[in-house]
Amino acid sequence: MVLLAPLALASSTSGCDGSATAAPRDSGVSEPKTPSAKVDTAPEPAPEPEPAPEPEPEPARISWGHADLDPDNDDQLGPPEPLDDCEEQLEAAGVSFKPARIGVGKKRDGVYTCGAHQVVRIKRGPGKIAYSKNPLLTCTMALAMADFERVAQEEAERIMGARIKTIEHMGTYNCREMVNFDLLSEHSFANGIDLKAFTFTSGESLTVLDDFRPTVDNPSDPKTLFLRSLANRLYDEEVFSVVVTPYFDHLHRNHIHVDLARYRVDGSRP
Ligand SMILES: [Zn+2]
Repeated sequence: MVLLAPLALASSTSGCDGSATAAPRDSGVSEPKTPSAKVDTAPEPAPEPEPAPEPEPEPARISWGHADLDPDNDDQLGPPEPLDDCEEQLEAAGVSFKPARIGVGKKRDGVYTCGAHQVVRIKRGPGKIAYSKNPLLTCTMALAMADFERVAQEEAERIMGARIKTIEHMGTYNCREMVNFDLLSEHSFANGIDLKAFTFTSGESLTVLDDFRPTVDNPSDPKTLFLRSLANRLYDEEVFSVVVTPYFDHLHRNHIHVDLARYRVDGSRP
């Protein structure tokens, strides 16, 4: 037994919220209908064309994919897991490097204190930036540095009108205890770098100490804009898990610290 009951519902009119002012003629007026008056012999109406929903403009979201986004491992402290194909990935990323070794220290309870399993010394990255000293970093950090160089050169060209020639850094690997809440611990695993000064192909140069100017609200100086915009992008685009600038505290007044900890810290903003 088939109930032919209220098929009429299928012909309900499409809504018109007045937003479709640019709609073509044929989508226009729908006749008012009283659903209950429809007889059940009516043919199935052709599906009315749905007004095309305005596509939401997706904000162009960029992720370089190095930052650790897993919220469940934030309290694990230790060197990053080695990558099977680290050297291939570095080559593909345009990094020239030398494999290196540092010891791995563990306390009796198994907690890592120092070192990393897979470390390289970067000779040259894809951005052709010369570092004051070839950075000694975990492979994952070295991979992130390749993307750092791309982002940094983009910002340099956009804001400084020149490319970065050299970067002076204050260190990568340093086996030491965490200094209060300074996020220095990743240095224990060669998993972070402190960026101090930049020079450009234009001959200009800047330092984080003089040019970040964390107390200035609306800077117009390109050097300040460059440093701040670079730090924002490095965090927002997930090049690194942690980006700490002079905004963060006095310990970071003279450098931008970046690392690949398992937790995330956005110190790129006031
Ligand atoms: Zn640091």
